[in-house]
Formats: sequence, C-alpha cells, structure tokens
Amino acid sequence: MCPHTPPCPDASGLDREAARTIICHPEQGWSLLCNGIVVFEDTGELLPDGEPIAPHRPTDLISQPVLAARRQESPDESSHSSSAPAA
Ligand SMILES: [Zn+2]
Repeated sequence: MCPHTPPCPDASGLDREAARTIICHPEQGWSLLCNGIVVFEDTGELLPDGEPIAPHRPTDLISQPVLAARRQESPDESSHSSSAPAA
C-alpha cells in the first residue's frame, strides 16, 4: 500500500503514526496515512483491519494559556550553540 522508499512504518508498528499522510480532510477531522491507518484530529486512530485506537495524546493542553504565556528563557544560548560545537 505504501508507495514510499524506504517504506513507511507498518500499521502494526509502534511508530505507525510516522507514515505519511496521503489524504487529509481537516474540515472533517481525519487523515489517511499511506499504511492504511485513519488518524483523527483527537489522536484517535482506525487501523486497516477495523480496530479502533482511543485518543492517546492530551491535545487539550495545547490550548491552555499557560503555554502561550511562557517565554524562552535564554534565546542567546540556542543560537550560539547551534553554529559550532565546542572543541
Ligand atoms: Zn509511505
């Protein structure tokens, strides 16, 4: 089913969500991965054999204001360390 090289994770693998999205319907709240899994926006899944997977990510936490108000404490450190490793 997967046309990609190297092939995406199989629907039975723990990393199955890493497969690429081939059909996306955000207005309907679901996407189809190339390994046959349907992923819903609440992180629930439907496997190719019809087995449902309950939502397993706390997506509600993303919308909490505490995360939006949090700032990066040291922006200088990230830009400095990414350029050259200390030898
Ligand atoms: Zn694929």
